[in-house]
Amino acid sequence: MAVLIYWFRQDLRLSDNPAFVQACLHSDCLLPVYIHQTQDRLSDPWETKRAGQHRLSFLKASLKDLKIQLQSLGSDLLEFEGKPEDVLIELAKTLAAKAIYCEKIQAPEEIIQVLKLQKSGIKVESIWQSSMLDTETLPFELKAMPDMFTQFRQAVEKQKLKFAHPVATPQSMPPLPSQTASLAVKQIDSIESASNLFQGGESHGMAHLNQYLQRRLPDTYKETRNQLMGMDYSSKFSPWLANGCISARLIASNIEAYERQYGANDGTYWLWFELMWRDYFRFIHFKYGSRLYQAKGLSNLPVNPFDASKFRQWCTGNTGEALVDAAMRELQVTGYLSNRMRQVVASYWIYDMQGDWRAGAAWFESQLIDYDVYSNQGNWLYIAGSGTDPRGGRRFNVAKQTQDHDPEGIYRRLWIKAYEQ
Ligand code: FAD
Repeated sequence: MAVLIYWFRQDLRLSDNPAFVQACLHSDCLLPVYIHQTQDRLSDPWETKRAGQHRLSFLKASLKDLKIQLQSLGSDLLEFEGKPEDVLIELAKTLAAKAIYCEKIQAPEEIIQVLKLQKSGIKVESIWQSSMLDTETLPFELKAMPDMFTQFRQAVEKQKLKFAHPVATPQSMPPLPSQTASLAVKQIDSIESASNLFQGGESHGMAHLNQYLQRRLPDTYKETRNQLMGMDYSSKFSPWLANGCISARLIASNIEAYERQYGANDGTYWLWFELMWRDYFRFIHFKYGSRLYQAKGLSNLPVNPFDASKFRQWCTGNTGEALVDAAMRELQVTGYLSNRMRQVVASYWIYDMQGDWRAGAAWFESQLIDYDVYSNQGNWLYIAGSGTDPRGGRRFNVAKQTQDHDPEGIYRRLWIKAYEQ
């Protein structure tokens, strides 16, 4: 009798989830679990929480949606709290589980979690599934992938690779192990959120994708993507992608179907292009690993010293630079920020305020409902000039950005009431 555990990580969905399908196929009884991690970054000088209110709220809704889906297949989702490796070792022992199945996450902390499980004698089947492209079909070894995004994209385009085809959603599931009822389950506290822009969960993610396509928004994506206000200027796929409520492959296959129906255009290409950036930041983790998490990243650049009072000004939107303050307030109120403003505030923190880029990245981690370890680390390194790009960092001139993107002050007034006076 094969008892297996399925450990949901950043893949909170049943559709296009190969690791979950494999777990269903290989088990007689299967326990689906999620583990709320308790450790914060409070030992770092910037003392930020790992996940703030907005992130937790989106996560909670995503887990609820997943639980309902699993229950509809006669199974369930059990939630625990603690260090994933400790909780899983305990569970595996209690259930005499043959193995733990999960998605593979190629970031240092997540790699260590799996190594600890394996060291304790547990078999772990971790399957890579969070990229749009299939790593097996790439025209290069991941360890030797091109450093520059453009070279990476061109190599992929030359092979005409678009996306790996999504796998089918399981229609039935193995039963829960008999001991399930006696396992300690974490009750999630009610988390209030000031943001109601985004509703977590696979069903909401699919509904969002469908309405985005039905309203033909891909057609205008390329022209509107640098705007700052509203739901429609960019796709807003990121919160569901980051939590794994929807896969990049499923989005890409839907965009391809859209192209077959309405024709390909600059907008559909550009959405794919941006999803390529997402893959690129994932794949460089296979090449450089934990070097991406060092203060200097891949560079020899000195790191700015950390100044707690400046950091507080930046985080709370009190720098005195109206565009930056508006954006930092938007982030705090909603848990989301446009790509343009993420670039502007990151550049402002690193170059104008002479801040430590790692503190900025940690604040984003705590605030963003679409926090994604690879995209956050990759973009911060890119702006700081400490990543793979040999051209150095990206400094944005705030006066020019204000003129180009908020010439009439509508965005600044929206987020800074005082600005109106
Ligand atoms: P769209 O413009 O509609 O793009 C479609 C999808 O393409 C996005 O959902 C995203 O998955 C991907 N994408 C777009 N731009 C990028 C990019 N620059 N890097 C990687 N993927 C991209 N994105 C995250 O998902 N999580 C993060 O934690 C994150 N942190 C960032 C930190 C900084 C400093 C910067 C400059 C960017 C960061 N981004 C991050 C990338 C980008 O800003 C967001 O993906 C995007 O704004 C999400 O909105 P959207 O879904 O409407 O994007």
